[in-house]
Amino acid sequence: MTVRTRIAPSPTGDPHVGTAYIALFNLCFARQHGGQFILRIEDTDRERSTPESEQMILDSMRWLGLEWDEGPDVGGPHGPYRQSERGDIYGEYARQLIEAGHAFKCFRTSEELDELREARKAAGMHLALKPADLALSAEEQTRREKEAWPYVVRMKVPATGRCVIDDMLRGAIEVDWAQVDAQILLKSDGMPTYHLANVVDDHLMGITHVLRGEEWINSAPKHQLLYEYLGWEMPQLCHMPLLRNPDKSKLSKRKNPTSINYYRRMGYLPQAVINYLGRMGWSMPDEREKFSLDEMMSHFDVQRVSLGGPVFDLEKLTWLNGVYIREDLDDKAFLKALREWAFNEEYVSRILPQVRPRVETLSQVVPLAGHFFSGLPAIDEESFDEVKLSREDLLRLLQFLVWRFEGVPAWRKETLLEEVKTLSGHFDLKMKAFLAPVFIAITGSSSSTSVMDAMAILGSDMTRARLRHAIEVLGGISKKQVKRFEKEYREIA
Ligand code: GLU
Repeated sequence: MTVRTRIAPSPTGDPHVGTAYIALFNLCFARQHGGQFILRIEDTDRERSTPESEQMILDSMRWLGLEWDEGPDVGGPHGPYRQSERGDIYGEYARQLIEAGHAFKCFRTSEELDELREARKAAGMHLALKPADLALSAEEQTRREKEAWPYVVRMKVPATGRCVIDDMLRGAIEVDWAQVDAQILLKSDGMPTYHLANVVDDHLMGITHVLRGEEWINSAPKHQLLYEYLGWEMPQLCHMPLLRNPDKSKLSKRKNPTSINYYRRMGYLPQAVINYLGRMGWSMPDEREKFSLDEMMSHFDVQRVSLGGPVFDLEKLTWLNGVYIREDLDDKAFLKALREWAFNEEYVSRILPQVRPRVETLSQVVPLAGHFFSGLPAIDEESFDEVKLSREDLLRLLQFLVWRFEGVPAWRKETLLEEVKTLSGHFDLKMKAFLAPVFIAITGSSSSTSVMDAMAILGSDMTRARLRHAIEVLGGISKKQVKRFEKEYREIA
């Protein structure tokens, strides 16, 4: 048997460090067994998936040196590797499952589903809807079918008993069937859900081992049942521990930057980031802290993964990055790293138009454009003294902007301008007044290049990181304030 593993990201946002972490372990597992590593794009959520996000995922994985043998960009014998391009495959299997009596068309309306859940709640039962809850009388089923009501396809699941999942790290995991709902397989628009598409593709792509985050454990019983229904052998499952913030909560962008783009923009070296991710729950047999991807691949042993939640600590990563710069980069390599990072034609040419109208000598360029080549600006509370807004309003403005920017799919000046317009309207401020604190947060001073252009050039992650940094230096936002802000924010169109 050839070992085949995969990473199956959904292109619905920034390229997440968690994706790189899981990809790294899948790659190492495959290589250690002389196998193959596949990249598959799971874009069945058509509303949230974007081509920009997919491109960023591919770019950032490549930047980290995580090469795949088959994927949407390199092709391969089991393509297409983008679920949105796999046409009718999933609908076919859904039909097969219905025919064999393992799945059913569910014509329930969303009001009915709410009522059914309420009824289960009132009876003190688990909220997971079961086939028996959802069943309609035979006449009603036929009527709705004849009248062409919208429907979803759901899988049948046992009402009682226990399901046992075999996990490579955790051994037998038992889950009560009572907690498992009659999962939707095909949505009313005919698109598959993650569960159906994932199982079908893992099978058709010959995946033998699935290493994925532990947040998927609850899905495993449904997947196991689908494999059984379809008469396929299930890949071996291995649920990796989730990355955590230093306070042990689940790694989240509220507390830590989670986008690989951020680390790239900040000037971390890919080899240091990969090395650090390799230490998340795993160690080399000799426990050394510094190792390359090649070294990790040749010493990899999945059984050395420890399940205690690995902490993704920015300070440790920064320290390790420094070690790489000092120990591994001679002058030539250092220069090369700087070029790849920001001192290259592509990046510098985007900055020149910002600088040209504002300088009289070349020596003014660096002081003026320094914010394009740095991380978080050196600002403090006093930096905002000139801004005529209360502290609360400042925080509100910056936080709302972070939230708006989180939802921007295509990071372009025009799109950002829309967001800024909407918010300045909401705050009843002229654009200039609205942008004053943003200017300081982004450029670190009150006179520099255009802030809108700066944000467009710096990119989503660095922009948001600087806005968040400004919030921090202004004293941060309390839990109470967050609640209040969220409520108000939701009302903005
Ligand atoms: N598309 C899922 C994700 O975004 C894949 C989960 C899995 O590996 O099964 O993480």
